[in-house]
Amino acid sequence: MKVAEVIVDVPTLQTNTPYSYLLPADLCDHAAPGMRVVVPFGKGDRLVEGFIIKVEVTSTAQPALKMVSGYLDEEPVLTPELLKLANWMAKTTFSFQISCLLTMLPNVMKAKYQTIATANQVLTDEKLRSKLPLQVPVELTKVDFSPAERRKIQKLRQQGALTIKYHVHNQARAKLITVLENQITDFTTVASQLRANATEQQKLLAYLKQHQQTRFVQQNLVQTAGLSRSAVQSFVKRGWLKKMMVEQRRAPELQQYVRDAAKKLTSDQQRAVTAIQAAITAEVSRPFLLEGVTGSGKTEVYLQTIQRALELGKQALMLVPEIALTPQMVRRVKQRFGTQVAIIHSGLANGEKYDEWRRIRNGAAQVVVGARSAVFAPLQRLGIIILDEEHDASYKQEDNPRYQTRSVAFWRARYHHCPVVLGSATPSLESRARAEKGRYQLLRLPTRINQQKLPQTQVVDMTKQAAAPTELFSEPLLTAIKEKLASHEQIVLLLNRRGFSSFMLCRDCGYVLQCPNCDISLTMHLDTKTMKCHYCGYETQIPKTCPNCHSHQIRYFGTGTEKAVQQLATLVPQARIARMDVDTTKKKGSLAEILRKFGQQQTDILLGTQMIAKGLDFPNVTLVGVLNADTGLELPDFRASERTFELLTQVAGRAGRAEKPGQVIIQTYNPDHYAIRYAQQHDYESFFRHEMRLRHLSGYPPYYFTVKLTVNAPQAREAAQLAFQLQEELQAQLAKTTILLGPTPRPIARINKRYYYQLIIKYKQDPKLHASLEHIQQHAQQISRTGVQIAIDPDPISFM
Ligand code: ADP
Ligand code: ZN
Ligand code: ZN
Repeated sequence: MKVAEVIVDVPTLQTNTPYSYLLPADLCDHAAPGMRVVVPFGKGDRLVEGFIIKVEVTSTAQPALKMVSGYLDEEPVLTPELLKLANWMAKTTFSFQISCLLTMLPNVMKAKYQTIATANQVLTDEKLRSKLPLQVPVELTKVDFSPAERRKIQKLRQQGALTIKYHVHNQARAKLITVLENQITDFTTVASQLRANATEQQKLLAYLKQHQQTRFVQQNLVQTAGLSRSAVQSFVKRGWLKKMMVEQRRAPELQQYVRDAAKKLTSDQQRAVTAIQAAITAEVSRPFLLEGVTGSGKTEVYLQTIQRALELGKQALMLVPEIALTPQMVRRVKQRFGTQVAIIHSGLANGEKYDEWRRIRNGAAQVVVGARSAVFAPLQRLGIIILDEEHDASYKQEDNPRYQTRSVAFWRARYHHCPVVLGSATPSLESRARAEKGRYQLLRLPTRINQQKLPQTQVVDMTKQAAAPTELFSEPLLTAIKEKLASHEQIVLLLNRRGFSSFMLCRDCGYVLQCPNCDISLTMHLDTKTMKCHYCGYETQIPKTCPNCHSHQIRYFGTGTEKAVQQLATLVPQARIARMDVDTTKKKGSLAEILRKFGQQQTDILLGTQMIAKGLDFPNVTLVGVLNADTGLELPDFRASERTFELLTQVAGRAGRAEKPGQVIIQTYNPDHYAIRYAQQHDYESFFRHEMRLRHLSGYPPYYFTVKLTVNAPQAREAAQLAFQLQEELQAQLAKTTILLGPTPRPIARINKRYYYQLIIKYKQDPKLHASLEHIQQHAQQISRTGVQIAIDPDPISFM
């Protein structure tokens, strides 16, 4: 007899360990760890999805065990490595195993549940009867039942008046198409067997003869070539065509890529490549920090090290921030490695993602390029893991499980004995400090390719620009824009705020239109003609009068990308301007289209939010303008300067990447801020030293580790009370050297009708910390029914 240990899809602490199920005889041979199964769970034996993590043979009878109901997969979807990783992740991020397991798979592999109730007799309760008529199956989640009604339903079920059935739907499906294979070898014989008046059949035969291929897609024969379906069917019947179902890949192999050969490396590149290749060959999990200025050819280093891994029969995983995963970046990898590449990004539809994932799982893909979640790609012979733009905040998952991609990458590298390469022009302070200590090997690319200079950067003090033509474009920036337009060069402008105006103010009563659910003002969007909340998505009409005093004296303040484009269009009417932000790139393919037009110089100016700062490599861009360098500096987060320095350096790096020299203009109200000064001088080293001193003084990472605890509740008082209670408990338990900050209300204290309080733990070494946090995790579980939530975020990336 065989028993399967199963982690079930019921995210609670009680179910955070495996449950034992008997395997029915007919399923026994098949069962293996990593497979998804359907199992009965709980009192009512409702059916849920689960993952087998172990199969054991037992001789003793185990009558108390429930039985596995069925499989969702033919083969294991998770490898032994990933099962182990999930376990580690659950422990280190204080999350449930099932959340970790599901995070590793494409969304469609999370099963869909249905609970269907059917009344076996006419129900006496009038209201309930109208919702559950006799003999009509009703999906319970689709109907509104009061809690009392729900209890009644359970009772009726026990009495036999109702039947409840559970369904678990596997949503993951390959797309199959009908293909016909030509079986005819002797066309003359077949022709002689057709009747003279069977014109449709003769047409089909002629078509098969003319097209000398063996396989035809049925749909193409009928719809495109206009052949008759019944003729096809009769050919199948007579054995002249063989019908078969074949999988069609949904993730499109867009175009044929022109193959691109490896470039001759510069001596700095060569040094880096040699060191990394040696680690691949020696199979050591050594971390490298590749610090290279923008345009120094880091990508070429990645490509040539990947090449080495492939030569050794190994595979490669290359991670990039979501917004840097542009069609440009994808093309560069595909040009080098062709169809061996699988790409995973959020722009893919669910089915497409599933298909790409299966190409990885079944070994067809050797190189995977993707954003954060691709770190779980089921590659089994990893030879190298690369994190491009390693400092990027998007590598940290903000929801459960709150993992840091970098840590997962290191875990996998240790498992596979392969190197990790962290690449950046502006490494995170944490990574750079580790390189300083020798824990990572530092590799440097200090100059741009072809000795091209880094762009000249000018800082414009906006406090002295009172006479500026508009509040947004200073005289020097406008002049430079006009110059570049005249010489047919291109321009990238950064404004880190979307929408039109960031708030509405009544001049008479001072009323500011706020989101009803959050403590934040609404932003005006002209394209949708609405006021939007950027936190909860709330939307309402643009008011014509003040909602408070009905005055007409309402004004709009603050500038977003929409307004900037409008202003710019009046200042330089001859320019062709494209806007690139969340709103203009939401539609599938729209980002690619904006970039294609810019690349072919059909637009002159690309104005956008921070998504324009990364990865773009357009040779004709010679001017980069930053409209408001200060937005990030104002944030109450100890990383505010680091983020600002990074953003400015990255966006400046878009200018002058080819022969023509680049120019950068930064507009700011804080011209003397060190983040802006050092960004102007492209001086990462000095920024690093300066910032390290400040972190040392204030006791922040990399000198301390941090954990963020956030409590949220529908009432501010509840959230505060619990936060203070946690603070007291931790104070009593943790080491004397550990520092607790707060609790304080979060900077935006209310989001989506819930109040947030947060508590920061700073520590160097605290042997009691893990147990204390586990205890809080348990507590969180116990109180979750009351509507109060606690989130534990180890090494948080945002303190907002
Ligand atoms: P980074 O990723 O460091 O910003 P890229 O890899 O985008 O830099 O390189 C900048 C440009 O230089 C790209 O157009 C790339 O094709 C080119 N390049 C990189 N390495 C070489 C080389 N060894 N010889 C010639 N051109 C190169
Ligand atoms: Zn008013
Ligand atoms: Zn809101």
